[in-house]
Amino acid sequence: MTSIDVRNLTKEYRGRQVTRAVDGLTFRVEPGRVTGFLGPNGAGKSTTMRLVLGLDRPTSGTATVGGRPYVTLAEPLRAVGALLDAQAAHPSRTGRNHLRLLAASNGLPERRVAEVLDETGLADAAGRRIRTYSLGMRQRLGIAAALLGDPGVLMLDEPANGLDPEGIVWIRGLLRRLAAEGRTVLVSSHLMNETSAFADHLVVLGRGRLLADVPTRDFIDAH
Ligand code: ADP
Ligand code: ADP
Repeated sequence: MTSIDVRNLTKEYRGRQVTRAVDGLTFRVEPGRVTGFLGPNGAGKSTTMRLVLGLDRPTSGTATVGGRPYVTLAEPLRAVGALLDAQAAHPSRTGRNHLRLLAASNGLPERRVAEVLDETGLADAAGRRIRTYSLGMRQRLGIAAALLGDPGVLMLDEPANGLDPEGIVWIRGLLRRLAAEGRTVLVSSHLMNETSAFADHLVVLGRGRLLADVPTRDFIDAH
């Protein structure tokens, strides 16, 4: 089973002034449960996820997946499925073609496209161009892409964004099922109540620092 390990992780952005987006962060995300990654906007959640995915280099410290730095090796989509904020899907493509191209370029079997379309409730919309999709449908398409490689680890940045109440119930059920299958699920949010309603464990950030790393039950009881 694959865990995510973040150790003494620091990331500074150097512009006119230095922003320490992530500041000496250490935590582990365990398989078989949903871990909520909480903190207000700007706390460093997205930066941490980008560092875990190797999309950015840490200033110091390490982030590993299954004990190794996540580098884009032979089969990246099989290891980690990610939904990041600024995910680009070409608007003139259909949802199905977007997923087909992703599957083909990553050596994944074509049948996965139909499976993830079903799983995300997009089967009926799959033949439409992405530019006609609502924000919620784009979010579902991003989740479909994250699931394409049947990964052991899922990292979703604010997946409830743009989803209607029905969509939120759906994604909670989906994430719980993926965790119950033994996967490692890290899901970021700035909404404490929304997240503590379905996460097993909470990692809470403030200004790039770790504020709490606790079972949800303990955190709720303590506050
Ligand atoms: P969160 O995901 O919790 O909202 P972020 O990781 O996006 O937080 O941002 C953490 C901090 O780093 C914020 O102060 C943000 O403005 C800053 N930041 C994020 N990305 C960049 C960047 N590419 N260049 C400069 N500063 C950045
Ligand atoms: P399994 O699905 O058999 O449990 P893993 O989930 O560990 O295996 O890995 C699935 C695929 O992802 C394998 O092809 C593996 O080489 C690759 N992989 C695992 N960890 C990493 C990593 N840190 N960086 C890049 N690829 C990885």
